[in-house]
Amino acid sequence: MSAPAGNLETNLAKAKGFLERFRGAPLGHFIAGRAASGASREIFDNVSPVDARVINHVISGDEQDVHAAATAAEAAFPAWRAQTGDERRAILHRVANAIEARREEIALVECMDTGQALRFMSGAALRAAENFRFFADRAPGAADGLALPAAQHMNYTTRQPIGPVAIITPWNTPFMLSTWKIAPALAAGCTVVHKPAEWSPLTATLLAEIMTEAGVPAGVVNLVNGIGERTGRLLTEHPAIRATAFIGESRTGSLIMSQGAPTLKRVHLELGGKNPVIVFEDADIDRAVDAVVFMIYSLNGERCTSSSRLLVQSSLYERFIDRVAERVARLKVGHPLDPATEVGPLIHQRHLDKVLSYFKIARDDGAQIKVGGARAEGLKPGFYVQPTLFANAQSTMRVAREEIFGPVLTAIPFSDEAEAARIANDTPYGLTAYIWTADSGRALRMAHKVDAGMVWVNSENNRYLPTPFGGMKASGIGRDGGDYSFDFYMETKNICMAFGTHRVPKLGA
Ligand code: NAD
Repeated sequence: MSAPAGNLETNLAKAKGFLERFRGAPLGHFIAGRAASGASREIFDNVSPVDARVINHVISGDEQDVHAAATAAEAAFPAWRAQTGDERRAILHRVANAIEARREEIALVECMDTGQALRFMSGAALRAAENFRFFADRAPGAADGLALPAAQHMNYTTRQPIGPVAIITPWNTPFMLSTWKIAPALAAGCTVVHKPAEWSPLTATLLAEIMTEAGVPAGVVNLVNGIGERTGRLLTEHPAIRATAFIGESRTGSLIMSQGAPTLKRVHLELGGKNPVIVFEDADIDRAVDAVVFMIYSLNGERCTSSSRLLVQSSLYERFIDRVAERVARLKVGHPLDPATEVGPLIHQRHLDKVLSYFKIARDDGAQIKVGGARAEGLKPGFYVQPTLFANAQSTMRVAREEIFGPVLTAIPFSDEAEAARIANDTPYGLTAYIWTADSGRALRMAHKVDAGMVWVNSENNRYLPTPFGGMKASGIGRDGGDYSFDFYMETKNICMAFGTHRVPKLGA
């Protein structure tokens, strides 16, 4: 991926211009087609990871605000559901056009809010637009079902939207991830209440505005800002909400399930990962090195599908680790709006503290810190860490088991296929796995042995939108992508019609 155009000074000046609108009055919600400051007077600071300075203030939605958003979504549902798939398709394509038109604003605001490098965010809005286009084109067929003829009855299935849904998203790539949920929900005919992460709330407001301007009717998409434990919890408990689509940490996922249990909410959970990349001695080493470095140090390592565990066959181990270490030491850490930057600051002081704590844990557990292992002191007060490589780790160590969610890679040697599979599966998670080998039989054997919802062979994470996306074990429940998304946002209904030939049981005759 090459560096984007421009330079830090011009990008920063533009970003400041785009951020200006968020200064002043605290950022509120977006309910029934309009910006709303709501009832709550609870306000929190939104801090930029670049310099630890407050960008703006945000209102944390209370019971009344969540109720207003949920009932707006409930009120808008019958009319939105009644629109034809073709009508929904046209509106969602207009949303995609509008996202593309504001892609620079989205990218620059997202970088300042999250610390993600422009190198990766400059394409994020286009990817978000693609999500809308992909699901727009599937809207006309979303209700399609099966014909299941029996001897004397004709059965057919059809799908109908489940109703108003809650969409709760994390802070790592917030704009793109929210479209990954909102686009299929709208294509299916559902209405939405979106609660973005409190550490990166800005681009959700841009998206709500864009959708409304593009013709999504009032109330079809609503946005409530707020703290997860309060605003998010209230949303997952609200009786008007039929389902919760959640992306975030595994422990929050289990709270979402229990909070939704009294109202019997359907849940879809995309959670954490500790994904292995497994490199065999016969792999294409150059391509494998590129992919290994890309899949953990891009997006600051704050990526659910990052390959945070590097498993290398012993015969190749020293040579491969040296190659990776050389690259890690040369990664360009810096301001996210500098086009040359490869690794930006972490999202928040609390997340920085968490990542830094693993440097001590690694040392205490006996892993070798081959590269990095400290805060990037020269870039203080921004939340920057040195890209880090732990070598000679074992799968029993905490750095090999727990999701660190930073630019931190843990390398573990293995001897053969059986040991590689055992180590790969030795974590609570099961989101993705990456396998590098020239032996197609071995690739297949490994792909089938590894417990992961998605496996890439001789590739970094490459998304094709019709394919299922989701994890096993503590990495989640359910799949997104293509028709899998509609399985979540829609109810399948069976309709059984008699040919009029069967014997109806007679009682009391
Ligand atoms: P998080 O679980 O802390 O927060 C996610 C969202 O949930 C936020 O909007 C937050 O406000 C809200 N929330 C928190 N507590 C809540 C509660 N009790 N009820 C309702 N909502 C609540 O996650 P995060 O730290 O924002 O994101 C990082 C995590 O997300 C990582 O674990 C990462 O792996 C995961 N993630 C997974 C995927 C995937 O597709 N599997 C994609 C991106 C990120």
